[in-house]
Formats: sequence, C-alpha cells, structure tokens
Amino acid sequence: MPRLAVGGLWHETNTFALSPTRLEDFQVLEGEAITQTLAGTRTPIGGFLDAARHLELDVAPTLFASALPAGMVAREAYETLAGRLIDLVRRVQPHALLLDLHGAMVADRIDDVEGDLLRRMRQALGGLPIGCVLDLHANTSADFVERIDLIAGYDTYPHVDPYDRGIEVAHLLARLLAGEIRPVRRYAQPPLLIAAAAQATDRPPMADLMRRAHQAEALPGVLTVTVAAGFPYADVPFAGLSVVATADGDADLASTVARDLAAAAWAARGQFRAHSMPPDEAVARALALLEGGGSGPVVLVDAADNVGGGAPGDGTVLLEALLRAGARGAVVALRDPDVVALARRVGEGAELHSEVGGKTDDRHGAPVTIRGRVVRLARADFTYTGSYMTGKRVPAGWAALLDLDGIALVVRERRVMPFDQEELRVLGIDPQEAAILVVKSAIAWRAAYGDIARAAIEVDTPGVCTNNLRSLPYRRLRRPVAPLDEDVPYAADAAAG
Ligand SMILES: [Zn+2]
Repeated sequence: MPRLAVGGLWHETNTFALSPTRLEDFQVLEGEAITQTLAGTRTPIGGFLDAARHLELDVAPTLFASALPAGMVAREAYETLAGRLIDLVRRVQPHALLLDLHGAMVADRIDDVEGDLLRRMRQALGGLPIGCVLDLHANTSADFVERIDLIAGYDTYPHVDPYDRGIEVAHLLARLLAGEIRPVRRYAQPPLLIAAAAQATDRPPMADLMRRAHQAEALPGVLTVTVAAGFPYADVPFAGLSVVATADGDADLASTVARDLAAAAWAARGQFRAHSMPPDEAVARALALLEGGGSGPVVLVDAADNVGGGAPGDGTVLLEALLRAGARGAVVALRDPDVVALARRVGEGAELHSEVGGKTDDRHGAPVTIRGRVVRLARADFTYTGSYMTGKRVPAGWAALLDLDGIALVVRERRVMPFDQEELRVLGIDPQEAAILVVKSAIAWRAAYGDIARAAIEVDTPGVCTNNLRSLPYRRLRRPVAPLDEDVPYAADAAAG
C-alpha cells in the first residue's frame, strides 16, 4: 500500500500588522494528533484523510502547524517548524506528500516562505511527488509553482471548499503516483492587487474568473486550475492575483489556459472595487434600515480590522460611532485581554468602568472609555458548525459580554474570526435578534451571517486590512502595479512561464 505523508504549514501574514507571529502562536499538531484533530472536519487535511481512505493509501501524519493571521512570522518559528516538518516527512519514508499550505506566509527576511519550504523539501526529499491545497489568498510565486507537482487552490470566498480541494488534489496525486498522469504547470501573474472586500467569488468579477477556470478544467488534458485572488496585505514582490494551470503533459495547453485567465483578470481590473462609507454615515444608514422593517441584523463590515486578514481585532472606530448614536441592540466584539481580566475580577452582574480596545497600535482607533455591566463571563471556545471548516474546534479563550446602555459589547481574550454563528451563540447571543452586528471581516463573515443579514454596509474604517490599498506603505512589492500606479503595462501574451 503506497504511503502518503500528510502535513502543512499555514499562516496568512499581514506584514503591515505590528504584532509578530511567534512560535508559541502556532498550534502544532504532530503525528496522530493531526488525525485526531482533523479527521471528519471540512478542512483540507480532512479531505486528504477521507480521500486516502477511499484510494487505499496508507496515511503517515507528520506535522501541521497553523496560526491565526497576524504580523510577520519570527524567523526562528519558521526555521523550527519547517525543519521539524521536513524531518518527520523524511522519517516516514513516504511515496508521496500532501501539504495544507496557506500560500501567503512571510517570515523575517523570507518573502516567499512556501517557495523556500519547497526548495528545502526538494533538497531533502528529491523528486517525491508533492501536492498541496492553497488558500484563495495565496500569493503564489513562480519559484513555488515550479517546485511542487500539484496545486489545488480554494475556489471560494467565503472559503467553503477547502475540504473539496483536499479531495481533489489527493486524487490527482494518486493518479500521478500510479503513473497515469504527468502534470505540467504554467504560471501567470498580472500586475494586479485586489482588496479583500472586492474578491467575493459569488459576484463579478471573481465569479466570472472562477467560471472561466472551471470551464478550462473541463477541457481535455487540463487537470486543475487555480486562480488565487492573492493577499494584498503582504508586502512581498509577488503579492496579488495569480493563475496556475496544470495540464497532463501538455505545457502549451497549460500556458494558454494560464495566459487567458490572467488576461481576463487584467481586463476586469477596473471592476475590482470595494465601496464603503464613513462610520457615522454607516451607523445612521443602519438605523434608518431598521426603521424600514424586515428581520435579522444590519451588518456593519469593518474590513480594515479583519481578524482573518491579520488585523488586531481591537479597532474601536465603529464602537465609538455606535455609542455616539446610542444604537441600542447593536452587537460588537473586540479583543482586549485586560478588560476580560477586569471583568473576571469584578464578576457577573457588576458594573465596570474601563478603557477598551485600540491598544495594539494607533491605526485602528483610540481606546474608548466605557461604563457598563458585566452580563456574562464564559469560556468562548466553540466548534465550527456552519459552512466554514465544519467540525474544527476554535480555542477562543475567555470572553465577557458587557451591556453598555443597550449595546452588547463582547470583549475577548483572543482574536476570533467571525466565520460561524457559534462565536456568539456560545455566549448566549442570538445573532438573528441583533439589530446591528459589527463584523471584523471583509467577505468571510458571510459564511456565518450572510443568510440572516437584513442588509450589509461596508464601512470605511482605518486599519491594516484597509480597502484603500493606496494608503498602505508598500516597499517590497513589484512596481508598477494596479491599482497603486497609473498606466501599468501588461502584455498577457508573453506572461505565462
Ligand atoms: Zn483566505
């Protein structure tokens, strides 16, 4: 029975965020802990494991390390985890390897972590067949694409297909192992950065690109196509949208597909827009919408403080605007471990007076003075039960629910991505009953609240995940690039390498 090693290294690195990502920020699963934690979940590794069983491959779990999106990964953390992963893979002597990678990990002085990891793996493991799943926000490089055999990137944002991509790449890898296919990849990258809020795959222009990618996948000889929308909050030369087309032995076919998709993305560059309004205007609009009837919360989208994009999650600008407007029934969550500790000292039912949020840096609003009552104190850990990574456990730590004159403020010990209603239900909050709900997320919140939202309003808040890419201090990014520069030249015909 062929032996399949399974592992991965997962981080989306926001190089503009100040909080570094250290070794202790990673959840490190080794050996059987991988299967114990991820078997049966709708994650890429959940997909690898189910496919391996179906394909009668013997699974050798190695190391899977993942951390919440945040600032630059400490060099030592990367060196330690990469060294350990490669060591464990070598030790199990596999016939093939499947990796769950994000694709936008950056470490101190290593712009292209995934490319570096594959270079090291090739040195240690030679020509072992290697496949991976990538996030839709991967910033893929030509180096990385050259060194890996198979890539299946998520097709969805909100991300609801990580498991399916795991299944897909596992089946392709099995065919490669059996000598049935000979994958050749071609890579194309137009000079194009896209703000996260403009990357939703269920609306144009990403929906059109994904449809084209799926049409290309149906062509005889094409094995798989990845359109990675890219992560614009990583200041690396190759950040932005990229295309990887994989064909069976036919480099020209792969090249044509990659080039056509890159050209289509480039042609649509003017349509990748995010519309947002100032905070006070957004709150007034939300209150007006509530007057108009309907059900479910009006969602205020705080994309600049996107926890899933590496922002601190303690931005206060919308909380302040809601307090100013006296927006009763609003629900806001932010991270502030000091206030959680204070709430635990005074206890449930007690009054609390403090400054909350805005403590990580000065780019997400100032700390806000609050006076309120501690309604609930609880461990906020939960399991994803919706469409995102279903079955995976989230170690959320302690949280306090505060009542600020009718505004419900959830203060968290740790950052939590609002991708599943359980994040609030675990604290006794029914999101359906909220009048206004603030989400620190660009698009992925829709996996949790898209179906119940009365309306959604994108708000122009400040922060390291801003929709306004021109305001970010890029230094390492290739230039010129759209939309930062004017009259950017691009000849898609010459582009697929
Ligand atoms: Zn993503």
